[in-house]
Amino acid sequence: MNQTPHPVRYQVLLQSPHAHLFQVTCILSHPNPNGQLFQLPSWILGSYLIRDFAKHIDNMQALCDQIPIPIEKIDKHTWRIAPCQKQVVLSYNVYGFDPSVRMAYLDQFSGFFNGTSLFVCPIGHEKSPYELSIIKGDAPYLQTWEIATTLTPHPNQTDTYQAANYEELVDCPVLMGNLSQYKYEATGVPHQLVLDKKRVGDFKRVCSDLEKICSYQIKLFGEPAPFSHYAFLTRVEEDGYGGLEHQSSSALICKPSDFPLPGEPTLSEHYRSFLGLCSHEYFHAWNVKRIRPLAFSQGSLTQEQYTTLLWVFEGITSYYDDLVLVRSGVISETSYLDLLSKSLSRVYQTPGRHNQTLAQSSFDTWVKFYKPDENTPNAQISYYQKGALVALALDLLIRTKTHHTKSLDDVMKALWQQYGKPSRGVGEADFESLAQAVSGLDLTGFFNQAIRGTEDLPLAELLKPFGIRMELKGEHAQLDLLKQTYTGMRLRKSDHDVTIQHVMMDSPAMHAGLSAGDILIAVDGRRVKPANVDQLLHRNLPNSTATVHAFRRGELFSVPLTFAKEPPLSCSLSVEDSTESDFYHRALWLGLSQVKPK
Ligand code: ZN
Repeated sequence: MNQTPHPVRYQVLLQSPHAHLFQVTCILSHPNPNGQLFQLPSWILGSYLIRDFAKHIDNMQALCDQIPIPIEKIDKHTWRIAPCQKQVVLSYNVYGFDPSVRMAYLDQFSGFFNGTSLFVCPIGHEKSPYELSIIKGDAPYLQTWEIATTLTPHPNQTDTYQAANYEELVDCPVLMGNLSQYKYEATGVPHQLVLDKKRVGDFKRVCSDLEKICSYQIKLFGEPAPFSHYAFLTRVEEDGYGGLEHQSSSALICKPSDFPLPGEPTLSEHYRSFLGLCSHEYFHAWNVKRIRPLAFSQGSLTQEQYTTLLWVFEGITSYYDDLVLVRSGVISETSYLDLLSKSLSRVYQTPGRHNQTLAQSSFDTWVKFYKPDENTPNAQISYYQKGALVALALDLLIRTKTHHTKSLDDVMKALWQQYGKPSRGVGEADFESLAQAVSGLDLTGFFNQAIRGTEDLPLAELLKPFGIRMELKGEHAQLDLLKQTYTGMRLRKSDHDVTIQHVMMDSPAMHAGLSAGDILIAVDGRRVKPANVDQLLHRNLPNSTATVHAFRRGELFSVPLTFAKEPPLSCSLSVEDSTESDFYHRALWLGLSQVKPK
């Protein structure tokens, strides 16, 4: 690494894990002599909400050549120190007790942080090299802790790392604790799966599956991989789930039960979803970390950056995450169709898809997607979920119309070659024009409907030439053939209570005057319990009416509720090859062996 003589140096002291405090020091040799500014990001790439990380900073002090100098706060996340011609040492505490992948966490069992939560950026020094030292405090348990990060280790100082610039410093999260580290290679590139604690599992199997997923993706975009090494930094928690992408690593949270046990012959749904999460975050190493919307490459992390393209970055990534599992041979075709039918059902069961377009969903993420409430299913459609279906439809359409000579893979490769590799931001109209150029098709009508319209896509029709039959049924169709009634309520069941979480637009519950937050008490005089509520609401005759008693903010009321027949919003997919070519087209799409099974 070509280091200038004076990198910006950061020290993180782990002195008070019980207080969840990181003690941070920044040493800057050449501050702005007129008064150096320091600024902390307000949001983190991959999670589009202003989170105001600065709220967890306190006790800031500055020394100029070892003499205390005043600090002035300019706005919620910017500080200016008094003019200083010599070395500045800025120190402060960061409180970290956030259990997500987005911020920072420290206790006596483990530690994790994103640089966006810990490191104030000395304005004007964004492009300088950085050095980070992590210093363990005195507590005996800290002495056995290890550190995992994809920052470059310092050649001669332990627990010290280097970054080429501020962006790299804050894009390499750090995991600390009594770690379990498993290593494997994908196309010759070193990879690591790191867990924050010792856990039981068949990690040889996990690494073998991850190797297939990672190798497939590297080859999809074309070797060599855009990083020299990669790490899945994983916190394992009883109730956790989540992931955040970075340039050469992912921060993940999963459950202990997500890992297969040694000797376990099958692939559980939990494990499949863990592999899907890894596949998703890994795909982002290309799609969003390097192939970036122009809006992000120009903007800063202190205010909102608007783009209509999040469906490209999250939706297409969500399409490929599971697709890569089947193409790399980690899951079967049946398992993939099961995942796909669940994704389709989620979109069909969201009335908000007729209210918000994908372009609007992307643009408004800052005020809508990350601030869900009881009205969200009626008002919004997720750019992840519908975005993945648009990617599916686009892929199938290109394959069919080009007689299987082109696919979405070719569009993604071109996106990588023309935008990702040369670090050129993707403009708002660029994805659509590139897809047309690569496929040679006029896709204007498709994009107008899919991205700027709210009608459903003709997915059943698009899946047919691939030998897949799509059917929509009632959600409880399998319960009882005669009694499947619909109310349009989504419920939250606790130990004793059943509370309405959402009421769907134009549903029987909405027409009856039931609302989110109502606690259900009785249906036709029969007491509602978590165990019997599904029977009470779904085993009725369509068009029959029941009296529903409920509490709203502590007051009892009753309303007549007329049940409807369940609308067909639950999707099932089955293989039904009508011709030999259906099978071969599906085999090409899903990367199956092209020998038709007997
Ligand atoms: Zn994502």
